[in-house]
Amino acid sequence: MLVVMQEGATESQVERVIEKLVIMGFTVHKSTGVTHTVLGGVGPQEDFDPLEFEVLDGVKECHRIVSPYKLANKRFKPNGTEITVRGVRIGGPEVVVMAGPCSIENRDQIEISAEIVAKAGAKGIRGGAFKPRSSPYSFQGLGEEGLKMIRTAADRHGLFVVSEVMDRSQIGLLSEYSEILQVGARNMQNFNLLRELGTIRRPILLKRGIAATIEELLLSAEYIMMGGNYDVILCERGIRTFETATRNTFDVSAIPVLHGLTHLPVAADPSHGVGKRNLVAPMARAAVAAGADVLLMEMHHDPDRALSDGAQSLFPEQFAELMVQLRAIAQAVGRSL
Ligand code: PEP
Ligand code: MN
Repeated sequence: MLVVMQEGATESQVERVIEKLVIMGFTVHKSTGVTHTVLGGVGPQEDFDPLEFEVLDGVKECHRIVSPYKLANKRFKPNGTEITVRGVRIGGPEVVVMAGPCSIENRDQIEISAEIVAKAGAKGIRGGAFKPRSSPYSFQGLGEEGLKMIRTAADRHGLFVVSEVMDRSQIGLLSEYSEILQVGARNMQNFNLLRELGTIRRPILLKRGIAATIEELLLSAEYIMMGGNYDVILCERGIRTFETATRNTFDVSAIPVLHGLTHLPVAADPSHGVGKRNLVAPMARAAVAAGADVLLMEMHHDPDRALSDGAQSLFPEQFAELMVQLRAIAQAVGRSL
């Protein structure tokens, strides 16, 4: 349920509405927009008359939200969510690129990666220290040692870090080294992890599960937001279909669909989306054209020797060339990069 306050409503009017919501058994989430404060009441009580709120001083309107996700719903924050990370605005006019290797492998590799991606205009470096590998015999990541390496490399090049958290026990450690915590596709419905991420104040990049619908992705975001962490970036990274020509089927349409349903920034990961290097650039271009706020991409200085996802990692020159193209596309759709 949503209560939209009038423009210029006073603090005490807002407090009065919050009090009434609490008495009725709702948990209240407040969104302070440019012109209006919106109060989201989440709770079991749906059999009330919106008029009860509309008559209160300072209230503009009150609606029931019929969609299953409330806080992620576009109506909760019609002007969109902007998340600022190290001075970079995510969900604003600029398309933000986060790039780097799939895994942090060693000091030199991550240092070279940081230099390449920063030079080409990326704002964040990606790299996993805890890797969700399909086989337990594959490289599992360097853990804290890797996080130290990516932090040092990022700081040297003025980048922020995005790295994956696989388990609740890793949240503290990840938060020490990484500005953005990534929840991987395989963990999109790890509800205990999501709930715990709701209690911290770090932006979360939430990837769509390999067989998840858009609504399920939004409900997973809701788990995080329920705890008070509203800084969630949703990420389309390809879904599993009957098609075998690509590793996954990159659902470009999810980008505008999500923009229509939610105020949260939308990221696209064409690397996992297609799984083949030669297809990453066309899908990255399509994602920017479709309105992605963030691009997450894999780049490796020596992909043939990468310890994970080499086949989908761009060569440095490919990445630099793609960034020039993406800049032009961003401008054509009224954005910058
Ligand atoms: C990754 O970003 O390297 C990764 C494992 O992603 P996903 O969870 O989308 O497979
Ligand atoms: Mn990967």
